[in-house]
Amino acid sequence: MTTDTEKLTIPVFRAPRDMQEWSRARRMDRRTIGCVPTMGAFHQGHISLIEASARECDETVVTIFVNPLQFGPTEDFKMYPRDEEGDLKLASEYGATAAYCPTVETMYHPDRSVYVVEQSLKEVLCGMSRPTHFTGVTTVVAKLLNACLPDRAYFGRKDYQQLLIIRRMVRDLDFPVEIVDCPIVREPDGLAMSSRNVYLSEREREDALSLKRALNAAQEAFEEGERNAREIETIARKEIEKAETVRIDYAECRDAENLSEVTDIDRPVVLALAAIVGNTRLIDNTILNPEKEG
Ligand code: AMP
Repeated sequence: MTTDTEKLTIPVFRAPRDMQEWSRARRMDRRTIGCVPTMGAFHQGHISLIEASARECDETVVTIFVNPLQFGPTEDFKMYPRDEEGDLKLASEYGATAAYCPTVETMYHPDRSVYVVEQSLKEVLCGMSRPTHFTGVTTVVAKLLNACLPDRAYFGRKDYQQLLIIRRMVRDLDFPVEIVDCPIVREPDGLAMSSRNVYLSEREREDALSLKRALNAAQEAFEEGERNAREIETIARKEIEKAETVRIDYAECRDAENLSEVTDIDRPVVLALAAIVGNTRLIDNTILNPEKEG
């Protein structure tokens, strides 16, 4: 841990060529590199990814970039929380050894014409209300991996659909990187940590807990033997509907591997939730796994 008065010691790169040069030199020295892609405004969820990478890799590159490509025209790109200085301090405290913080200008050429498009998993769940989101994500993550040249890249299970889409991209395009997924980090009362939680009023913050209550109620019913996906969804919806400031976007059970529709929970299934709390869109999920039941 560094103290407040100590200077930031990790290098910060803004351009892909500079980042690549650093990573290539590390690889020449046979040092393994972990990469943690983020949009900044760090909370304990981000820190858990940095710690996992620092444990498992010789070097850890944290990337901080609020990616305009993954925001819809009416979404919160402009007001998205930003604190690069604070984030860099935390990153180095928790074990990052370099940071890649491109600007929109160093990231995207004005006449860019190549995108990375995943064509199947992106159609469901968040893709229904955010049709351009995942193409923004796959394009930026491909570019971040090409800049950082990591052996491993760390992603949170909180963004479950994103995780599957990135795994699919890496598989289908033969990226030489291992994708590592990390558990959802929650506030003490159960709310999944998110940079967007700062938008919530006191009342909305209370209502946002209905997502976790919904997951708990569904998990409980599942553990008591409920195997009907529609029943589980109804149980989850009912919990969320009790909260006045919350509007459900979706509450769906889907195959945990490929997000296909399920009727019976006879294999691992993800119960994925998205809801708008006031004006803030929140997501959460849990895995219902019959293979883990007695
Ligand atoms: P973001 O900055 O929101 O784009 O998130 C960067 C990374 O942190 C993604 O891999 C997220 O899945 C992960 N992440 C965000 N919130 C959490 C959380 N509460 N628990 C675990 N990982 C998280």
